[in-house]
Amino acid sequence: MLERVLIANRGEIALRVLRACKELGIETIAVHSSVDRELKHVRLADQAVCIGPAPSARSYLNVPAIISAAEVTNADAIHPGYGFLSENADFADQVENSGFTFIGPRGETIRLMGDKVSAKQTMKKTGVPTVPGTEGAVPEDPDEILRVARDIGYPVIVKAAAGGGGRGMRVVHNEEVLLSSIQVTQSEAQAAFGSPVVYLEKFLQRPRHVEVQILADGQGNAVHLGDRDCSLQRRHQKVIEEAPAPGIDEKARSDIGDACVRACIEMGYRGAGTFEFLYEDGGFYFIEMNTRVQVEHPVTEMITGIDIVREQLLIAGGEKLSITQGDVQLRGHSIECRINAEDPRNFMPSPGKINTFHAPGGHGVRVDSHVYNGYTVPPHYDSLIGKLITHADTREGALAKMSQALDEMVVEGIRTNAALHRELVVDPSFVAGGVSIHYLESKLEHER
Ligand code: ADP
Repeated sequence: MLERVLIANRGEIALRVLRACKELGIETIAVHSSVDRELKHVRLADQAVCIGPAPSARSYLNVPAIISAAEVTNADAIHPGYGFLSENADFADQVENSGFTFIGPRGETIRLMGDKVSAKQTMKKTGVPTVPGTEGAVPEDPDEILRVARDIGYPVIVKAAAGGGGRGMRVVHNEEVLLSSIQVTQSEAQAAFGSPVVYLEKFLQRPRHVEVQILADGQGNAVHLGDRDCSLQRRHQKVIEEAPAPGIDEKARSDIGDACVRACIEMGYRGAGTFEFLYEDGGFYFIEMNTRVQVEHPVTEMITGIDIVREQLLIAGGEKLSITQGDVQLRGHSIECRINAEDPRNFMPSPGKINTFHAPGGHGVRVDSHVYNGYTVPPHYDSLIGKLITHADTREGALAKMSQALDEMVVEGIRTNAALHRELVVDPSFVAGGVSIHYLESKLEHER
């Protein structure tokens, strides 16, 4: 069992990790930048260490400062949260080489999944369905490239193996521009990610984003916790998530879950993780694996009753998974709205002081947020100030609770995207279920 965990993150996820640690009797160390002294988890932690100035490059991404903080506070493990260093394989290695436990998979696994080509190849080998495309990097020979693309069928998408965050991708609609598009993407990828490797896959036109949550102990045991639909996105950022994904039959759900479990066992995966898929016409197509806890993990917790962060801590402490697949029962439906400090119309960030904050509440309503009356949202980090999560027996019930929760919530002093959420939870297409990843952006465009 872990005794003292350093939380290498900020905001709502740092608080989420702190809560799980406290419940398990684990001491907590908060590390924070100089503008984050007033964060809720910093006040609640057993110890707090300032690791640098506001810019993340000098604080939350400052590996030597974080490792030193772990040393001086005698931590035995480091939880990276999401974002920042959470998917940095070198960081995971350095943490472990310095004698601490990294709460996540081995560096080697992160590296394997961080490269899209090797991730896809691993999936293919273990029977997880992938998007039709090249076997690895595009071939050298131009004629060969053209032939492969013709086999895949247009439109195709050129993707950088080392890409991320929605960057390093280019859609190609016809043969005439394929070779030049590949060249441009290669040089962009070299400049942005330090690797020119690109591959081709079929461009799916109206897919949904459906992902599968897994837990594995690195000792031969793994389970899946069902799926989530995160199709409502703007600029590749998820806005609303839900579990389970609507309209997917039980057989398909358990088949894809089982495939993910097999892949985890095959690669000796350790910790929590998510397999992301595009879902179109009843088919799942793997796009990437996130080797960390995700923002939207609460919707899965609500329908399974399993505390994912607690499980991460237990697994990192060396325990075997205490649940089997048979123990995982999905109950009801859960929805999450990401509340951002931003203008609901033009999406400009809106940092500043929150003069008044009233959180909603009641049966089936959960609020994961670090903000409070008088808290100042700094301009240096992402704009997520909290997550509203509802749970009910049915999807309609969870939506009705969300409408009520959004109406109850009061945030004064800064602008938030709550008004957009209020509109979305009664939007007829979203309410019907199963909109594609393009739905939100096209709706926003039409309304302008
Ligand atoms: P990143 O790591 O940059 O997030 P992903 O591989 O997860 O890259 O892809 C990001 C997004 O790009 C997907 O959510 C989807 O919107 C789009 N995308 C990626 N591959 C395809 C594809 N084959 N067909 C259609 N859209 C795609």
